[in-house]
Amino acid sequence: MYYNENTTIFFNGKFIKVKEIPVSIFNQTMHYGIGVFEGIRAYDTPKGVQIFKAREHFDRLHYSAKVMHINLSYSSSELEQISYKLLEANNLKDAYIRPLVYLGENMSLTPTDEVNVVIMAWEWGKYLGDKLLNVMLSSFQRPNPKSCFVEAKVVGHYTNSILATTEAKSKGFDEALLTDMNGFIAEGPGANFFIEKNGKLVTPPLGNILAGITRQTVFEIAKELHFEIEESLFTPEEIYTADSAFFCGTAAEVIGIASVNEYQFPLKWEDSIGALIQKKYKRRVAFNE
Ligand code: PMP
Repeated sequence: MYYNENTTIFFNGKFIKVKEIPVSIFNQTMHYGIGVFEGIRAYDTPKGVQIFKAREHFDRLHYSAKVMHINLSYSSSELEQISYKLLEANNLKDAYIRPLVYLGENMSLTPTDEVNVVIMAWEWGKYLGDKLLNVMLSSFQRPNPKSCFVEAKVVGHYTNSILATTEAKSKGFDEALLTDMNGFIAEGPGANFFIEKNGKLVTPPLGNILAGITRQTVFEIAKELHFEIEESLFTPEEIYTADSAFFCGTAAEVIGIASVNEYQFPLKWEDSIGALIQKKYKRRVAFNE
């Protein structure tokens, strides 16, 4: 699904075939989860292939590397140029791009000098599909910001996301919604969360969530459409009086939510602010509008 024998990846300065990648089983990322990554999308627009908000994504990769004491030797603009070349090498137009920075051999809990930079790309449909989601309020909480850098995309953080997703799916839901360490709503396993209430959008503030680049785009679009967004902490109970809700993220884009636990949102998705934002988001990424 992600590659075939002809797939090219970028690895430490070279374009190579996937099967040629030398990965040591003693790499620190595999044992302890210290590594950083990004999730980026490219779109086939009328102006040619465009990587959406490439600079923001590679700047976040730099931030993630920095806080994790990883020395990333490529600049954001170099990584952007490499990504365009990678898409070309694989003849990809609408694609998901996955830069991964993983470390070399080290079985101690100390920093490691060997830093490997890999970029992969493949065609990937919308991560959460196109249908409205039935969401489960997770029994797992997002990591405490005092235990890690929640705004960094660190490999190990995603064990929390996998646990929450697995729990939700095993109970018949499409996706999970997690609270923060104080029981306030935080985000999904791989997407930010918004509710609509009385004509206004409400979303958790930064602090206990990933600062999503799609979340930021939703803010920009809402402003253009003259909708207000309130950033405030709210409890699960407050969801149960909301009119509508959606998730947003690079992989998922903007996707509506039908229900959280047994609560069905009363507003039809087509009539929600989220649906307007979803339409405009699609036009922004695919037509540069
Ligand atoms: N929260 C989490 C935990 C995520 O993994 C993601 C995906 N990167 C997001 C939110 C959305 O972020 P973005 O819009 O930058 O893709």
